[in-house]
Amino acid sequence: MPRRCLFCSIGPVTGEHVIAQSLSKRLWEVSPFTPEHGAPVEPKPGATRFHTNRIIDMVVNVACDDCNSRFFNALQRPCDPFLRTALAGEASALDTDLKKALASWLYKTALLVPLALSPRAGWPQHIIDECQAFYIRRRPPVGARVWIGRYDLRDNFPELVGRADVSELNYRRQGRDFIGNQILVSLGYFLGIVVLWNGVPPDDVNIVNRTDDRLVEIWPAMVGHIAWPPEHTFTYEELTSLSNMVPASS
Ligand SMILES: [Zn+2]
Repeated sequence: MPRRCLFCSIGPVTGEHVIAQSLSKRLWEVSPFTPEHGAPVEPKPGATRFHTNRIIDMVVNVACDDCNSRFFNALQRPCDPFLRTALAGEASALDTDLKKALASWLYKTALLVPLALSPRAGWPQHIIDECQAFYIRRRPPVGARVWIGRYDLRDNFPELVGRADVSELNYRRQGRDFIGNQILVSLGYFLGIVVLWNGVPPDDVNIVNRTDDRLVEIWPAMVGHIAWPPEHTFTYEELTSLSNMVPASS
């Protein structure tokens, strides 16, 4: 019997790219770093990381045709104009609606990454459950956090043309333990970070005062316009330290 879609629970699953091919194509268009543009093909020595994968190539069998073509497209469509410029490192603006839309698209993408990186038998149950909950809610849950930032692609080809990392989060606050995942996604100059929890989220997630204006928080979505990109541009080393981040205890 075919597997049921993790989102709608109706249709049989089909293989789908974690990052839509329209975005992969855009990345190819705007990147001056592709071999076609004369850039080196070999990655820097020692740059490969465990749990890191080229997100553009990632395919996962978790959603049905209908969810792939309608639900996922509907999530991405309002983000497309912004993503087209952000992937290229160009300036634009974010309003409240766009922050919500981006957070939802990025959250959906983040749910797919751990599933794409491990065999079905190893899929975390809380992620499986969250796919269905997200299908109904259509927004990240309360307690999830989503940030976006700008990445310095220029000095780091080809490591971050497109990649995804999953880290475990073990967060202790006021004597309680919280467990979750951090998913980091980079696409060209665009950088997205999602933190989601297994079970009850901590009431105050002061995860290493990490934003510090270097990242823009888009979930929970604060009202108001902000300019893109933020002043800070992440280096490869900074990004790797974010992937390895261990939250502060209290
Ligand atoms: Zn479905």
